[in-house]
This record gives sequence, structure tokens and C-alpha cells, in this order.
Amino acid sequence: MINFTVGPVQSSEVVKTVGALDVPYFRTPEFSELMLDNERRIKELAKADNSSRVVFITGSGTASMEAAVMNIFTKNDKVLVINGGSFGQRFVDICNIHEIPCDVLKLNVGQALTSDMLDVYNNKGYAGLLVNIHETSTGVHYDGKLLSDFCKKNNMLYIVDAISSFIADELNVKELGIDVMITGSQKALACPPGISLILMSSKVVEIIQNNNVKSLYFDLKDALKNAERGQTPFTPAVGTLIQINERLKEIDSKGGLEKEQEYIASLAKNFREGIKDLPLDICSESLSNAVTPVATRNCSAYDLFMILKDEYGIWICPNGGALKDKVFRVGHIGNLSMEDNKCLIDALHDLFDRGILK
Ligand SMILES: *Cc1c(COP(=O)(O)O)cnc(C)c1O
Repeated sequence: MINFTVGPVQSSEVVKTVGALDVPYFRTPEFSELMLDNERRIKELAKADNSSRVVFITGSGTASMEAAVMNIFTKNDKVLVINGGSFGQRFVDICNIHEIPCDVLKLNVGQALTSDMLDVYNNKGYAGLLVNIHETSTGVHYDGKLLSDFCKKNNMLYIVDAISSFIADELNVKELGIDVMITGSQKALACPPGISLILMSSKVVEIIQNNNVKSLYFDLKDALKNAERGQTPFTPAVGTLIQINERLKEIDSKGGLEKEQEYIASLAKNFREGIKDLPLDICSESLSNAVTPVATRNCSAYDLFMILKDEYGIWICPNGGALKDKVFRVGHIGNLSMEDNKCLIDALHDLFDRGILK
């Protein structure tokens, strides 16, 4: 099986090897050390200010999205959500559940965000902006600088779900003035699912300290206090946190963030060029390195997903809802090689020769 989905993705040998070991007890100086090392390395990869903090949540990416929103904003705030697909909609749902007033900038499938669209929302008294910098459901990567300028001009907190973009695309937290950056273990971190993390500016840490969130598990005050000594309030996914540490060290030893990013970008470029002669259309106005969204013309995208899985042992990522038969996505994150790319490109050509891809 070759896995080209957008997460969980394939892990490297070293990550799999430590995943096979017994999970140790964690209230120890050794585990605290590892957690502080994880925090330090995440801050470095995000190019975050040294005064920022990281908490690790045992829960998938959505847990950190919800925790961040409910700890930072209240009923007395108003926020703006960029909604370009199912992950943008998730931020809207979170605001609604927690009764945080929100306005929604809705985009069409595949549409890039422009400054004209944002202009309408100037001077509206928003406390913050919520955005999935790469809307993974449609494969649209927003302009982080454009949103940064908008937030600075309007004195808004800049909250970024970078779950599928972190490591894959350039993102400079300090330069862009990002107040919160969220990511998860199963995307470009290429570890099993179960851990997500919230990186916060000192400004946000202070806001959280002064808010009274109604939650035991998602009280970030508690998480921040414990994280000072490299611990968590409750038992975390210890094994996954150890795998994350191995993965972060591996990125470092293989030449660092830029090398990793270049490699992901080269896989994406190679795939995009490899399907040019097929009746397929890349359907995003602004692509991330992490994913290529592909529209079919005269055949079902979902059927292609099933046939590739059952007959070729290759997993691409189907879309849901209205896009089910129209669009599939190919991920370029995780432990993938150029030979893996060739297998997928060859399989798509074979489907074309068989008259299935048309
Ligand atoms: C994967 C992803 C998430 C998190 O989804 P979970 O299933 O909760 O891990 C959130 N936002 C984006 C943009 C994603 O790609």
C-alpha cells in the first residue's frame, strides 16, 4: 500500500521503530526533558518568538481548534472566520457551540482569498480572525501575509489552523504576527494521529490566564502551568509524543526545515507535471505544497479512488459531500519517494489506457 492521503500519512522507519516499543511512565524528569525539547523544536520550526509557548493536547487537530477558540474568546467578542470548505466550517461550528459571535467570509470551492474580499471587513471591531491557512478539503492555500496585514491594521488576534500546512509550506509565525498556530501529529509531522498542539504568543497566554473557560480537560491555564515543567495535566498519548520527538530530530539531522519543505515541494511539482497529459484538472487557485486537488472530467473521482485502492494498492484521498464524484486529493506529505510518485502517475495513465479515467 502506498498512502497519498492527507493524513494519517506514512511514517519514517525511525518513527515506526520507536512506535513498537513499550510506552513508559511519564511523570519523570526524562519525559519532561523530552517534552521541553518538543516545545523548543516546534517553536524553532514555526520561527516563533522565544516568549511564545506550546501546549500539547491529546486529541486530534479539532480538539486544539476548539480548545484555542474557547479559551481565548468569550460571548463578548466578535470574530471573523474565513470559510473555504469543511475546515473553515468547523471553526464556524465551534464558535456557534460556544456562543462566540462570528461573521463568515465564505469562499467558493477552489477560490483564493483576495484583499478586495477582506476590505469589506475593515473596522468592524473584531477581536480575532480564525483561518485554516491551508483549507485541506479544497486544497486552497491562503496568503498569510495578506491576512497578517489585515489583522495588524484592525488590531485583531491572528489565529491560524496550520494543521496540514505546518512544515509543508513556508510559515513565519513571528514575522506574520501569528498569535496562535495549531497543528497535529498525523499530517507533515508524519506520526500516528492523537496529538495536536497549540503554539501561543505571550499576548494570547495572558488573555487565557484572565479568562475562565468552562472545561476541565480543555482548560489551557492548567496545560500552560504543567507545560512549564514539561508535563501535562492528564496522561497524554505518551508514545506519540516520543515519536514526535524522533521525527523532529530526524528533520533536523536531515538538513532542517528548508530541506524538508523543498522535498515536499519537489514531490508536489513532480506529481503535477506527471498528470499534465491526462484529462484531469488541478482545481485550486492557490496551491499548498501539501496537497494537490484534482477534478475529473468525465468519470467519478470516487470510483478512481476505489479502483486505485483495490486494484493498485494505492490510496489517494477522496472528497466528501458535493465534491465526492468530482474531486480527489493527492497528498505529498509523509514518508513518500519519487518512485512512489511514479507508481501513482503510472497507475493513472494505466487507468486512462483502460478507458476508466476519461
Ligand atoms: C486535518 C485537519 C484538521 C484536523 O482534523 P482532525 O481530524 O481533528 O485531526 C483541521 N484542520 C485542517 C486544515 C486539517 O487539514
